[in-house]
Amino acid sequence: MTEKEIHVDIVNDIIAWKRDGHELDEERLRRFVFGVVDGSVPPYQASALLMAIVLRGLSDGETLALARAMIDSGKTLDLGVLRRPVLDKHSSGGVGDKVTLVLAPLVAACGGVFGKMSGRGMGHTGGTLDKLESIPGFRVQLAQGDFLRQLERVGVAVVGQSERLVPADRILYALRDVTATIDNEGLIAASIMAKKVASGTSGIVLDIKVGSGAFMADLDKARSLGRLCRAVGEAFERRVTCVYTAMDQPLGRAVGNRLEVEEAWQVLGGQGPEDVRTLVVALAGALLALSDLGISEAEGSARAGRALDDGSAAERFDRWVTVQGGTWKPGEFHRLGASELVAERDGFVTGVEARLVGRAAQLSGAGRQRADDEIDAAAGVILAKKVGQSVGAGEALAVVYARRRELRAASMFILKDAFTVSAEPPAPAAVVLARD
Ligand code: URA
Repeated sequence: MTEKEIHVDIVNDIIAWKRDGHELDEERLRRFVFGVVDGSVPPYQASALLMAIVLRGLSDGETLALARAMIDSGKTLDLGVLRRPVLDKHSSGGVGDKVTLVLAPLVAACGGVFGKMSGRGMGHTGGTLDKLESIPGFRVQLAQGDFLRQLERVGVAVVGQSERLVPADRILYALRDVTATIDNEGLIAASIMAKKVASGTSGIVLDIKVGSGAFMADLDKARSLGRLCRAVGEAFERRVTCVYTAMDQPLGRAVGNRLEVEEAWQVLGGQGPEDVRTLVVALAGALLALSDLGISEAEGSARAGRALDDGSAAERFDRWVTVQGGTWKPGEFHRLGASELVAERDGFVTGVEARLVGRAAQLSGAGRQRADDEIDAAAGVILAKKVGQSVGAGEALAVVYARRRELRAASMFILKDAFTVSAEPPAPAAVVLARD
């Protein structure tokens, strides 16, 4: 038997072990994870083990061992030279989620250091990198030295996830995406936290979305994921706060890359949609309390509110974008053709289904169907009405922007089912549901 054949044989035993309901120990998990990265575990074996994990579940111990193996599968970044805690926020993914664009410079304007390695958007939720790249010239790849220098001088840097950090996650995530194995708490927690720990940040706020447009449909499941993520983070001496936030309707009004940057700019200037501001202020408070400033979450939130209103957050955004090569001119971008969705009856908007708005924005050209698809920076959807607002028959509910008429038509086809208009107004709903 060749070494490769022996390895395939052992992995077969590991798959059978999990299939039969046994606990995977550290050694089995490391063999699997390292084998995925060096190619000795072929995709069919990796997929089989992933499915066995989804069916049997992972214990807390297995989740931690998996995260550790994933971290050890690549390089880690040491941010200790900065001698200050570097803060990071991770969102479990939402439609219209432009929070990082506001939060990153806001935290820096309030005296914290915000450093983030971010991903691209797949499916119906856009990625922060795509949004930043809708600003002409913005560079999302920085050399490590430049990343550190920028954190030191400007207090904020957001870059693309380095290929060298947690290579196992890239391979496993791509397999999970096409084998119906995304949906497992242990796999999700290990995947998220391995990347956070490897990127060297020490204070992490997880914005875990709850609702019809999110991974987690209910708060109990979201809290269970949050608990597991915190346990993994704390095992690596990271301070982790979880904030659970609503994702039934899109966040804010804009869904689409450049459209979202424009909206983020409004919020940075003390204006813009109230739900975005509320969320950003809550998350900023949670992050600043994890820094070395010696302030509580409430004090952090108050400081953040002032920085949005006094222009210092917007000023920091300008500086950040400029040092990362971007040319920021608000309102200056190519305008695409528009189609309007109008209400058929008078009433109140009682629902705007985030998932459908996200899909409509994706079809307009704002999102990818496949990893190598090009996206259209200026495409997307603007909601004219949000939940709770009144609307008259014939009045606009939303506008789709797309480069071609067929794209607008495809987008409108989905969007028309996203709105519910009823005779009675809905009960008011909170943006921040809980924190742990
Ligand atoms: N986000 C991640 O980074 N990993 C998952 O597994 C799910 C969401």
